[in-house]
Amino acid sequence: MSNKNNYNYLLSDLTKLKGVGPKTANLLKKKRINNIFDLLWKLPKSYTDRSASSKIKDLRIGENQTVTIVPYKYNFPRIRNLPNKVFCKDETGNLDCIFFNSYEGYVKKILPIGKEITISGKVSYFGNKYQITNPKYISEDSTIIKTKHNQYSLTEGITEKIYNNIIKQIIKDLPNLKEWHSKKILEKFDNVSWNEAINELHKPENIGKFKSSFYKRLAFDEIFSSFLVHSEIRKKIKKIKKIEKTINLKEQNNLISKLEFDLTKDQKKTLLEINKDLESSTKMFRLLQGDVGSGKTIVALIAALNVINSDFQVAVMTPTEILARQHFSLAKKIFKSSINIKLLSSKSEYKEKKEIINDLSNKKINLVFGTHAIFQNKIKFKKLGLIIIDEQHKFGVNQRKKLSDKGGDNCDILLMSATPIPRTLTMTIYGDMDLSIIKEKPKLRKNVTTYSKLETKIDEILRFIKKEINFGNQVFWVCPLIDESKKIDHSSAIKKFEYLNKIFPNQVALLHGKTEQDEKETILGKFLNKRYKILVSTTIIEVGIDFPNANVIIIENANKFGLSQLHQLRGRVGRGNKQSTCILMFKSSLTENAKKRLNILKNSNDGFKISEEDMKLRGFGDILGFKQSGLKTFKLADPIHNSDLFILAEKEIKRIEKEDENIGKFKTLMKLYDQADIINDIV
Ligand code: ADP
Ligand code: MG
Repeated sequence: MSNKNNYNYLLSDLTKLKGVGPKTANLLKKKRINNIFDLLWKLPKSYTDRSASSKIKDLRIGENQTVTIVPYKYNFPRIRNLPNKVFCKDETGNLDCIFFNSYEGYVKKILPIGKEITISGKVSYFGNKYQITNPKYISEDSTIIKTKHNQYSLTEGITEKIYNNIIKQIIKDLPNLKEWHSKKILEKFDNVSWNEAINELHKPENIGKFKSSFYKRLAFDEIFSSFLVHSEIRKKIKKIKKIEKTINLKEQNNLISKLEFDLTKDQKKTLLEINKDLESSTKMFRLLQGDVGSGKTIVALIAALNVINSDFQVAVMTPTEILARQHFSLAKKIFKSSINIKLLSSKSEYKEKKEIINDLSNKKINLVFGTHAIFQNKIKFKKLGLIIIDEQHKFGVNQRKKLSDKGGDNCDILLMSATPIPRTLTMTIYGDMDLSIIKEKPKLRKNVTTYSKLETKIDEILRFIKKEINFGNQVFWVCPLIDESKKIDHSSAIKKFEYLNKIFPNQVALLHGKTEQDEKETILGKFLNKRYKILVSTTIIEVGIDFPNANVIIIENANKFGLSQLHQLRGRVGRGNKQSTCILMFKSSLTENAKKRLNILKNSNDGFKISEEDMKLRGFGDILGFKQSGLKTFKLADPIHNSDLFILAEKEIKRIEKEDENIGKFKTLMKLYDQADIINDIV
């Protein structure tokens, strides 16, 4: 059987390998190693250089070494738990081999008296003599173990020896894949072929050579393939023909003129981009990205108005009901009463829900707000023309693709995210979409002043908020969930509520994941009406809600949050034109790293910059809660150290798109890297 030019070998089941039975395969699968290709990225952490075999007198204690000795005497004690010993020597000294739990016959067989044997293992020194306990490699033929030997981080139940054997086997049988990159790209990596690169990657002496051409080539393959999949999805969506919408500019400008503010330059620019998409005959699949408080909602609602005026329905989906309700109220306020707007809440009466469902199917409703519930199967729109998804950075590319299929061909899609991401990650995370970015914040907006305080100084904080409340301002007090895995764990919020309520009687409200919906609405309504001055809550207030009168946010246990999340939380205040304050509370004095992180927040209100820094400090897997999105974590590529490769890959993708190059030659690459099977229906 030849694997020579076939990538299928790499995608085959692990049991295809010699020495890998179902048991070992299952152990590997638990480590998300599902096929032979996955095993290629199981890289050695270090290696033992057995090629340099020492004399006994030169052995270094505590290290793995190889030495050629001659056994001259056995000691097999008849007492349980005492080890078997073999006394050995060379011309420079003595060494004992110690065997626990071993059979006499076995020891005699591998270390026969008087024969020259090469052994390998960790050297210790005991009772004036060198020792090797349970020597690993024992051979009469010293050349066999005088090789360099990789050490892998072990998966339970799989020894290093097994890893070495299977990886060796794979490398030996590696198919010769046809080159997919252009000459120009390949030159940047010293023309290292894929096959060569893999070979180099696994050589013991190449461990950690992140800057080498072979390493970079493979990292580039990984980045490029991911971008390519995104690009293909985008192209595919762009091929969908739809009925063009006609923008009623008069109606649009009429609404804009009635707003309490002028749109910012970026709001106007993004609205133009969206309108252009709506008017075109290809389906829109666009992300409106802008920092917290940059004013995305109004842009989306104006787009919604344009779609409704074009005789289509619009659905707006939010992650929480509170946010849906707030958008709903805003729409009610700014849209003409001739536009029928509804909120589909999970807590609505059965009769009301039924009516909404009915009116969506006969197009009596023009605009509907709700959580993911608005996409239940039983809900059918008569003529859906736009889906708006707010605050959905946690959607992965798979979910987005499903979404774009929803609503049918005539339905445009607009996603919104307040989560700025580092520049190098744009294609990684949002490469399947077109981007509209709001950078500039509304004019009168002031930066949120940020402080840190030890928990023990709560009295100072209380004095401060008393003062703010006297000025007529309102305060958010955020308590983290004690146990992230249990979303219902909100005891810290309850405790804090009780504590604050004693100090500020009848002025404090409490909100957490278990608060009943009706109560939640009542509480938020009262907070908006300034009936309450302080709102204690868990992080459920994190996304999107707008309280212009609140200008102080206290965040307890701030070290529990990432920088970007803190920035998001902080964005709950400072939306009006007042000076706002964010106080980050800490349990104990801060580590150097924590101080660094804090300073970034104190010194910047720019979400894009904060996300860059967050990534530098914490690595990219951790930033922004993208973990939940099923976002691919790269095997080799690193967005910080390989930022040049990310940019190169983006350039190359753009070139391919521009020149409409056939991507057939990348089929192998995509098949190998795309675990999500997204491309199956594309290539
Ligand atoms: P986000 O982008 O975080 O979703 P919002 O759309 O909720 O931000 O807007 C935040 C606040 O800014 C709202 O109170 C909104 O009315 C206000 N706002 C939006 N655009 C402007 C503007 N151009 N000038 C002043 N205030 C604005
Ligand atoms: Mg928002």
